[in-house]
Formats: sequence, structure tokens, C-alpha cells
Amino acid sequence: MNRDIKNIVILGGGTAGWITANLMAVKWEGQGFNITLVESPNIGIIGVGEGSTPPLKHFFDEIGVDETEWMKECDATYKVGITFPDWSTKPGFKAYFHPFFSELDQFTIPAFLHNNLLRRKGVDLEGHPNPFFLAWELAEQRLAPVAPPNFPFEISYGYHFDSGLLGRYLQKVAEGRGVKYKQATVIDVVLDEEGFIDYLKTDQADMIKGDFFVDSTGFSSQLLQRALEVPFISFEDTLFNDSAVVLPTDPEENPTPQTISTALKYGWVWKIPLTSRFSNGYVYSSKYVNDDDAETEMREHLGLLDSDVESRRLKFKIGRVREHWVKNCLAVGLSQGFVEPLEATAIAMVQLTVFRFIEFFNNGDHTDKYRGEFNDFVSARFDAVKDYIVCHYRINSRTDTDYWIDNGTNERITRSLREILTSWKAGNDIIDELKRQNLDTYFPDTSWNCLLAGKGMYPMQEQLRPGNELAHKYKMEEIEKFLKSCALNFPSHKDQLAKLRH
Ligand SMILES: Cc1cc2nc3c(=O)[nH]c(=O)nc-3n(C[C@H](O)[C@H](O)[C@H](O)COP(=O)(O)OP(=O)(O)OC[C@H]3O[C@@H](n4cnc5c(N)ncnc54)[C@H](O)[C@@H]3O)c2cc1C
Repeated sequence: MNRDIKNIVILGGGTAGWITANLMAVKWEGQGFNITLVESPNIGIIGVGEGSTPPLKHFFDEIGVDETEWMKECDATYKVGITFPDWSTKPGFKAYFHPFFSELDQFTIPAFLHNNLLRRKGVDLEGHPNPFFLAWELAEQRLAPVAPPNFPFEISYGYHFDSGLLGRYLQKVAEGRGVKYKQATVIDVVLDEEGFIDYLKTDQADMIKGDFFVDSTGFSSQLLQRALEVPFISFEDTLFNDSAVVLPTDPEENPTPQTISTALKYGWVWKIPLTSRFSNGYVYSSKYVNDDDAETEMREHLGLLDSDVESRRLKFKIGRVREHWVKNCLAVGLSQGFVEPLEATAIAMVQLTVFRFIEFFNNGDHTDKYRGEFNDFVSARFDAVKDYIVCHYRINSRTDTDYWIDNGTNERITRSLREILTSWKAGNDIIDELKRQNLDTYFPDTSWNCLLAGKGMYPMQEQLRPGNELAHKYKMEEIEKFLKSCALNFPSHKDQLAKLRH
């Protein structure tokens, strides 16, 4: 692809399309690129009430938008992590919290790692991750993770938001930076003699020409998968969910700043606080339950059995494309893949894809010199995310349905995940093993430790022995005191959200 690239066409105006438009407009400002985003007025976006991970803040920093500007327009709240209730049946481990980490955790992580290692070797120490992390303290006390300016440690956090509103907000910002917007439905993709995309035919009987195309058309992947026929690698042998039913419930004035992801009989339900409502969605496998029964179970869980509040049903496919950048087309968002919403990684993968694409494209002097490296890089990130999410399912200890039993006994997990589990059970420090397997590239080793410890992957309580003084070198009362005094620096979630509205 040694062509002169000036005209970039982004097809699709969901979150992926607008994040791409903004990043390209900022990063290539003044370099003579014309960016046009084309969106169908007839095909909706996936957008549900969604959660992010901390990189979303970096995206906004990159495009020069402060949270005081966008949060109030997108019904957003803060997010310090995710609690996972009912995935484990082990006493003392019925729920655990996956925190977003902050600089402060450097003081408590050594204690957590020390305890979980010795507990695996049979010493009766606190091995649950929650009490070691500031984020948990903030979630429990319903505090916003916004520290005063003189607070000496960086606190990382994510957000919850209405993704429909976020898309509209990002459109406004992108158009302000010169991105052109066109509404049309693409009905055909015309390739040139070398198999590159030449132009798009629309329902308005015009043609949209471009030098480079971004496919952000969601699961239908009109350009990369349909027109260029890039194969899709399904993850359905280890991730069974393919459906969701979404229902809103009334908001709370002071919601806990976290997502709650509760396991039900055939999957799990997210509860995401927005300022306007709670977004709730049951993610389940249609191979184990039909859509009506899933919705009934969800309504029962939410206390909405007698309510006529309308649900929205969604189908999705789990996996990734073999290559994300092929010829003059880059797939971004659901068109490139989806590893299910359990850890809310999709938007971060969008950012990562676009950031890295711009970097590799620039390094190759606007050619496809580093296309192979780029594709390997993005695929490796997808696969690392996949192993982490599969691990959630594989180590569940529920036996109430075939769904959970099949997940818990699934032998089709990757060799890398199998080796991590073996290493953990053997009582080894898994940090080196994660590095060796390249599995800490997306989720850091502390996330893996929280997951395995949080689900109670320890010897049974009756097998534990007291341990000597050296084993008890970290005092839980001191850790608690330390975290509680740190938490005094943070405002209530409610007050911080109210401040954003003024
Ligand atoms: C159940 C569920 C829950 C999720 N929860 C989270 C979460 O908590 N956190 C997170 O990070 N991610 C989450 N995701 C993923 C997240 O929704 C997506 O990554 C994100 O919204 C980006 O979607 P998209 O822009 O790729 O696709 P879409 O939102 O599907 O947008 C597709 C766009 O393409 C356009 N289009 C399609 N075909 C054509 C055509 N022929 N011509 C013109 N335009 C066309 C449409 O009009 C639309 O504008 C979730 C996904 C699902 C399914």
C-alpha cells in the first residue's frame, strides 16, 4: 500500500467510529488529511449503558476534553472497579472486587501478594483481595475517585455513561475539529483491480471515494469481513454467551461508583449506575436458555416481574478477525472483534487499535510497512483479554446449571491459561509465569491475583494452619486504618456528580 493517502472515510458512527474520528483529527491535525464519517440513519448503534476502564480518561486527555465538560452530557458516573457476586460458592468468597489500581496500592499490594501466596501454601491469612485496595474503600463508602490537587498519588478510574449520548458528544467535538459527517447507508463496496476498496455505493445513488477506509460498522463489518472477506476467529468454544437482554431501573442519588456483575443461572447481569437510570443487562448463552426464560429470570432478579418496562434484546458474536488492517482498510470496534462485556474492555480496545494504528502508520511514513506487526500486536491483546475473561468462567464453582458446570470443566482453554492455573494451584508466584506467557500485557498481574484469590482458589478453610509470626507480618488492622485515612481525601460520589452539573 504505497499510495498517497489523503482522504479517509470512516464508515459507522457508533462509539468506535467517533473515537477513531477524534483521535485521527487530533493526531494528524494540519497534515492535510480529509476525514469523513459516514453513518446510516437507519441502522442503530449497539450502545447500551456502558462502563469503561481507566484508558478512557487518557482518550479525553488526548483530545483535550475535560470530564467536567463531557460527563454531565452523557449521564456519566465514576467507576473504581467491578464487583462479581455469586460466581463462587466458596465460603468467604461469594463476591469479590476487581479494583482499578492507583499509585497508593504500592503500599498494600506486597501484603496482598504475601498473604495469597502463603494462604495457597496452607497458612490461615486474609487472602481476599478487597481489604487491600483503596478502590474498594471508595466503592464501599460511595466516594468519587477525584482527589484534591495536593494529593500526592495518582488515582486511576473509569466511567459509566450512556453510549448513545457519548457518541453524539464525540460527534460534536469531531465536527469542531473539521471531520465531515454524512448520513447514508452503504449498499455496496467496490474494489479496484488489486482488491483495495475503491469506493462505497450508497442508497442515495452516490459514491463515496477514499484512499483509506475505517470499518466501524459493528458486528456486520461491511468492509473488512464482508467486502475484503477477512476471516473471523470465533471464541465460542470457551466463551459461550451470545445474547443479552437490557432493562433500565430507577437511578440512585448516591450510587456506589462501581459496576456490579452478578452471576445468574445462565450468565451474568451487569448493574451500571448512570445519573438518569441504572442500566441492567443479562448476558447469557442461547445454547442453555431461551430468550423469554432469560428475560423472566432477569426480571425476577430485578424485581420487575410485574412491571411493563420495555426490554431490549441483543445478539452478539464473540471472537476477533484474523487481521485488523488489510489493504486500505482498518477495522475498529465490534467489526474487529468482541470478547464479551464482562470486564468492559471493548472501548479500551478501540482506543488501543487506533492509537497503535496511527503510530505504526506514521512510523512507516504513511505506508503499510508495519502492517504485520500492527496486526500481531492487536491480536495478541485480544487473546490476552480473552484468557482473563475465560478464567472468570473456568474457575467458577457453581453447579446449579449445565451452563456453569460446562464452563467450570471446559478443557478447551488455552495452554497459557492452563499453565497459569497450574502455577497458582502449585503455590507459585504467578507473576513470572504471566510475563512468560505475555498474559500481563492487558490485565496486569495484580488483576490476575485478584481474580484467582477473589474467587477463593485456596485450600479449604479446615486445611489451613495458623502460621508463624513471620507469616503474619502484615497487620490487617493497620492496612484498614491506612486505607480509611486515605479515603478521607475523597468527596462523596453524589456531591461530585452534583458539582459536575453546575
Ligand atoms: C451487550 C453489550 C454490552 C456492552 N458493554 C460494554 C461495556 O460495558 N464497556 C465497553 O467498553 N464496551 C461494551 N460493549 C461494546 C461496545 O458497545 C462497543 O464496543 C462500542 O459501542 C462500539 O461499537 P461500534 O461502534 O463498533 O458498533 P455500533 O455501535 O454497532 O455502530 C455501528 C455503526 O455502523 C453504522 N453502519 C452499519 N452498517 C452500515 C452501513 N451499511 N452503512 C452505513 N453505516 C452503517 C451504524 O449506523 C452505526 O452507526 C458492549 C457490547 C454489547 C453487545
